[in-house]
Amino acid sequence: MCKRGITFTALLLGLCLLASCSMTPKKADIPEQIYQASLPSQKEKADIFVEPVEGISENFIRGADVSSCLALEESGALFYDAEGQQEDLFRLLADGGINWIRVRVWNDPYDADGNGYGGGNCDTEKAARIGRKAAEYGMKLLVDFHYSDFWADPSKQMTPKAWAKMDLEEKKKAIRVFTEKSLSEILEAGADVGMVQIGNEINNGMAGEQVKKEAAALLKEAAEAVRKVSDARVAVHFTDITETDKLSRWTEILQECGVDYDVFGISYYPYWHGGMDGLEKTLYDLRKKTGKEVCVLETAYPWTLEDGDGSGNSVSAKLADGYPATLQGQADAIRDVCDRVVRAGGIGVFYWEPAWIPVHHYQGEADILAENQKAWETYGSGWASSYAAAYDPDDAGRYYGGSSWDNQALFDFDGKALPSLNVWKWLYHGAEGTLVLQYIEEPSMEITAGAPYTLPEKVLIQYSDRTKSGYQAVTWDTGSLNTTIPGSYDIPGQTTEGLETVCHLTVSNVNLVRNPSLEEDDSSMWKFDFRSGGTCADIQDKSDDAYEGSRALHFWSESDMDFTISQTVTAAEGGIYTLSFYAQGGDIGEDDSFEGFVEVNGEEKLAPFTLTGWQLWQNVRINGIKLNAGDRVTFGIRARAQAKAWGTFDCFSLSIR
Ligand code: CA
Repeated sequence: MCKRGITFTALLLGLCLLASCSMTPKKADIPEQIYQASLPSQKEKADIFVEPVEGISENFIRGADVSSCLALEESGALFYDAEGQQEDLFRLLADGGINWIRVRVWNDPYDADGNGYGGGNCDTEKAARIGRKAAEYGMKLLVDFHYSDFWADPSKQMTPKAWAKMDLEEKKKAIRVFTEKSLSEILEAGADVGMVQIGNEINNGMAGEQVKKEAAALLKEAAEAVRKVSDARVAVHFTDITETDKLSRWTEILQECGVDYDVFGISYYPYWHGGMDGLEKTLYDLRKKTGKEVCVLETAYPWTLEDGDGSGNSVSAKLADGYPATLQGQADAIRDVCDRVVRAGGIGVFYWEPAWIPVHHYQGEADILAENQKAWETYGSGWASSYAAAYDPDDAGRYYGGSSWDNQALFDFDGKALPSLNVWKWLYHGAEGTLVLQYIEEPSMEITAGAPYTLPEKVLIQYSDRTKSGYQAVTWDTGSLNTTIPGSYDIPGQTTEGLETVCHLTVSNVNLVRNPSLEEDDSSMWKFDFRSGGTCADIQDKSDDAYEGSRALHFWSESDMDFTISQTVTAAEGGIYTLSFYAQGGDIGEDDSFEGFVEVNGEEKLAPFTLTGWQLWQNVRINGIKLNAGDRVTFGIRARAQAKAWGTFDCFSLSIR
């Protein structure tokens, strides 16, 4: 019905356009629908437990972003159902309850020789093919325009190459033309476009425009272009619900600038963006304030912390409280995000890249890794290829590689559907199976030799019936444990219900750094020396920007920065020491420089490093520091950075390794 509606509207618009301008959408080539999945009518038996979501409507958007799927297919990746039978990806998604597909569109993700940048090489042509395929399986399409030639998010909104020399007025025309043309091509291919997203995670601007009102001027043009060629909902897309002031300001700017949109969408990743209460409240508040629909346009959660393709993953530690990286933990996270969106009056949830599996499952074999690397370069099935270097030298140019998301897919590393793929259809009546114990937390701790410590009082226990899951108090058998001797110890423990667990305790040598994680209130041992950029560094209390705990050394300024942060300590015993700390940050310039340093007895050792993005933590180390007992040693970070560069440093240690 809707598909015909769109065709009819497109035709009408085409007639109107004939009279006013040269662009005439062609008649859409509506594909025959070859499959229609249905939702269960009652609770089903399963390997995982899913509580039904009260009040969820049948039209609730249960979306999947599968932008990388064609590149994966070209690379030779295959998908299988739970029984191990090879099956079409879209059929598997439909059977899992997915009713919408999302696809990103980059303006021109190719270098001058036509080599793809990777990340699926998602251009209009690919989006059109994915959109048509979705329609064949009875699914609507969300078109996600990044208005860049490659990844766009809060840390980068690079201008498309073709727009590089344009001023704002020229860009306004260009975004209108591009949106109309690209969307028309996707519609003509037969996609059932239900929503169009203008810009991707545009908290800090879009298409190279960092001033919010100028970015909003582009949004206004883009929204009008969507209205001109389709009757799809227009969505704006932001991220990070913890930035409530910024999101609120954006709602005002969108209104002031007359941006005609229907949906205020956000990304919500439970391990980055705080608890689910915050999700529900922010969505509710945004809906009330704007009077628009609200939607989670991206979410995901890991089922494992392992890597499956030989290319590191975005999330390999630091999970959301109460959600272990297990099949049940992943299922719970999805179900709970949907539940909160329903409670907030939202229209749906899109899961980001549930099918971004390894090309080949890598388990340490050099030839498999080489094959994967070849596929990422040839077909763009990794997050970035080396060809992206000219456009994105600081990120893709340095760290190009495979899937950073294989542990958050809804398929295992060999492409077999996980039980958690079915959460979407089980949102209505739930799923339940035999009661089995699924997970017992094994906590890890690190202390310095001889330091006082307290082992965790409780551990997370998870059953297939979630109502029986939760934290249980635990008694640890510390027996003959001697924590004055450095080493790794596994301490056995038993919960109140008699379940056995282990605490992995690492006892390291004495750390000379005082207040090493910045968590203590007295920070007077840290010395700040500002040469330019004003008081551009301080101690920030924000857990998302801390490697451990919630506080970290932080820098940012409106103007260019030049500063040193240091601490001076005395070595109690002689030995060969290592300095280690963690750093993350971004928006740095080509000439910016960062270095860790250690000065002792008039000699200096350096470790230059760079900052590659938000939460892309790098471990900076200086090895082989010879200290005699009584030596005074100064260590820290020297930095020279352009205005608006930002970053944090955390978790320092200076110890004998
Ligand atoms: Ca990976």
